[in-house]
Formats: sequence, structure tokens, C-alpha cells
Amino acid sequence: MINFQSPTSEELARWLSKLIQIPSVTPDQAAGDTAIAGENRMATALSNWFRQFGGEVYIDEVLPNRPNVYAIWWGTGDRWRAVDVHMDTVGVSQMTEPPFSGQIVDGKVRGRGASDTKATLGVLLAILEKLHENEIKLGFNLLVSATADEEADMAGAEEFANWIHKQGMTLNELMVAEPTLCHSAICHKGEIRLEFEVHGQTAHSSQPEQGQNAITAAARLITALDAEHQRLQALPARPPLGHAKLTVTLINGGNGMNTVPDFCRIFVDRRTLPGDDLSLIEKQILSLAKENCPLPVTIEEMSSLNPFLQSADTPWIQSLARFTESDPITVPYGTNASHYAGLAEEIVVLGPGSIDQAHGAEEWIEISQLERMRDILLHWWELT
Ligand SMILES: [Zn+2]
Repeated sequence: MINFQSPTSEELARWLSKLIQIPSVTPDQAAGDTAIAGENRMATALSNWFRQFGGEVYIDEVLPNRPNVYAIWWGTGDRWRAVDVHMDTVGVSQMTEPPFSGQIVDGKVRGRGASDTKATLGVLLAILEKLHENEIKLGFNLLVSATADEEADMAGAEEFANWIHKQGMTLNELMVAEPTLCHSAICHKGEIRLEFEVHGQTAHSSQPEQGQNAITAAARLITALDAEHQRLQALPARPPLGHAKLTVTLINGGNGMNTVPDFCRIFVDRRTLPGDDLSLIEKQILSLAKENCPLPVTIEEMSSLNPFLQSADTPWIQSLARFTESDPITVPYGTNASHYAGLAEEIVVLGPGSIDQAHGAEEWIEISQLERMRDILLHWWELT
């Protein structure tokens, strides 16, 4: 038991406010505004603070000018505890309040990233500052990973996983910060995104028999894909996530109002469950497409993400459940944890704030959530 002066609510709020005032919009959503795009400003600020508070800092370039920042605080024990927080936020064009104000008012901190997910970074910095001031060494090694690109392709998470493998490190406990209202999330679905292209033959639409209509062929394919979704729903539910899902999400095709279309593209989002074999699913969908589409069809995988599943019966997860007096939950959205299978003995997705406040026209977090996160971290780090 170590006694140190833990950060006050005001200090937690002030740290978060500072971080919100450093824009780090994921570039795809920054509409070319270089003053707000990318993680570089945030990475520089964080590496300075981490160094100032006694961290050993590593900069790992993920994409041009978009690095991850890792910092290690060596402790007195051999265990490795890690927190992964993404630095990027979604765009701000849909916001109806100043996005980077970091205004502290009515028990809330406001601005883009307040809940998703600068809040965890703010709480971490407030605690690390105090530990440094009080010259306290932790009883384990702490690794903080501030990652880039979570809101787009999760390239930062992929790179962090590679870096850990290169170091030959196994982490004992890894917390992936996302707004879960400080509940322990131990499971989410994976996804595969596929593009189908149906290949036909054009002809004048006054003589359609001379062509091969890619759109009507695609319609049959869509009906078959919808039937596949219904089949998945009729299978026995697989706890804790229930059923896999398949949604046809986009369509485009055709060449003109008076032409038999020679192509039609459709896009499918297939949500997967822990234990699913992604390559098997792709093979099944390919054969389903070939059986049901009367014209040649090609399939391209646009992206895929693994599901995340952590047992609820492991020591740390149980300790978190006792401390927070809440059972582990599942979340509907994907996280960096998709890339972290095998990286740590136990992995949890946990952070302050609600996903309801993320990505919206307004974003804020209750300061009471920051206090809750502070208490969870202090308990985990054996400081209370
Ligand atoms: Zn997030």
C-alpha cells in the first residue's frame, strides 16, 4: 500500500481539457484541414509529458507523420501492465459546439475526443504527474501505448502488436481504452467487408437479348445473401454475442438509361463471432455467390477485423468486476483489441464516458467518470 496524493477532480478535468485543445482528427475526416488533421501534434505533446514524468519514450512511425508513442515506467517487479489509448478522433464538421474548446462547465469537460478517447489519456497523465512528483515507483513495469489511426484502419494497433512481438515481450495485463462507462468489456464481434462485382455484357436496351444484364443477375445474388443472413439468425445463438450478421450495404452499376448494364457492384458487411474461421466464411460466401448468380462474379476483400474475446474467469477481470461492482459486458463496436490476440495474458476494453457521446454533434464527459477511471487505475496499480 502506497500513500500518495492522488489527482483531484479539477486536475483530471484540466488535463483532459488540455488534450482536447490539441486537435488530432483522423486525416480522412479532416476535410484537408492541416491545422486539425493527424496525430503528430498530440504525439509530440505526449512524448514531452511522458519524458517529463520519468517515462522512457519510443516514437514508432506508423504512417507518414502519424506515429505511435510508447512510454515505459520501470517498476520494482517483473510484471507488465499496459494501457493502449488511441490518439485520433473522428471529424468535427458535424459538431454544433466549438470542437476544441475543452470547456469545463457544469461537471463536464466538452469537445471532440472528450469521451472517445482522450479522457483516459488525461487521467493517465494526471496520475503519472503525481507519481513523478511523489517519486513513487510502481510495483510492476508500466507501458502506455498511444496509438494512431484507430478511427480509420487501426494501423496503429497493428504496429503496436508488431512492436511488442519484436521486443519479445509478453504483457500480463492490457487495458484498451474506449468509452465503456468504466465497465469491463470482454467481447466484441469481428467483421469482413467484401466487394462483389457481377460481370455482364452491354447491348442496346432495345435488344436486351443481345446483352447480359449484370444488375438483374446481382438482384438474385442479393436475394441469396439476404437468405444467408436469415439462415444465420435461425442458428442457435452463440453466447455472449448471439448471432453473426450479414448486410448488403452499398450498390452501384450500369452504364446508362438505354444500355444493358455490363457491371454491378455490391458491398457486404459480414459481422463474425469469436471462434469463426474467416477464410472458411469467405469460401462459403464465394460458393454461395457462384451458385446463385447467373453471371460471373468476382469477390474482393476490402478489410477484415478479428473478433475479441477474453474469458471472464481470469484473475484481473474478476478483480475489476469486484472493484467496479459490475459484471463484464460485451460491446457492439470494434476496437484496437481486434489486433491484440495473444499479446497479453488478459485484455480488457475499458474507459470512462459513454459511446453515446462519441462521434456526435456534441461531445462531453462527466467529470465523475474521470474520477471513476482514476480510482480504477489506482486500484489496479495497487496505489490505494
Ligand atoms: Zn475510440
